[in-house]
Amino acid sequence: MSPAGPPRPNENTSLGEYPYVVLRLRCHVCERWRDCRVAILSWEFHPEERVGEMLRLFRRRCPWDPSNPARKPQKYGMRCGAYLPDLNSGRPPDLPPSMTGLTLIEGGKPDMLPTEPAPIERRRRVGDADV
Ligand SMILES: [Zn+2]
Repeated sequence: MSPAGPPRPNENTSLGEYPYVVLRLRCHVCERWRDCRVAILSWEFHPEERVGEMLRLFRRRCPWDPSNPARKPQKYGMRCGAYLPDLNSGRPPDLPPSMTGLTLIEGGKPDMLPTEPAPIERRRRVGDADV
């Protein structure tokens, strides 16, 4: 295995070559989502079918599908935001968390909320005896 690992899948990757067990489909706009087993999709469609075609089929059920002929084209209208989150992530979706190693999270200690409440600042009353 090369150090770079297998090539990352893209929309032209066939179902038979898709490296993950599950094909995840998400939409930014309608918040629909679907997780499909690639083996089932290969059996239902064809192992040579492209994952981009699966995305197109997923998009067809979206009320904002831009390829729907019933919809008038709108320059600034809502448009389906369907996507395949695992195409560009570089991190396999089915890798156990213990195998991914540590990841750097932006921010740090200054961004954290304090674990203890701030000390209460007591104010003196006017006229209190200072003895
Ligand atoms: Zn959508």
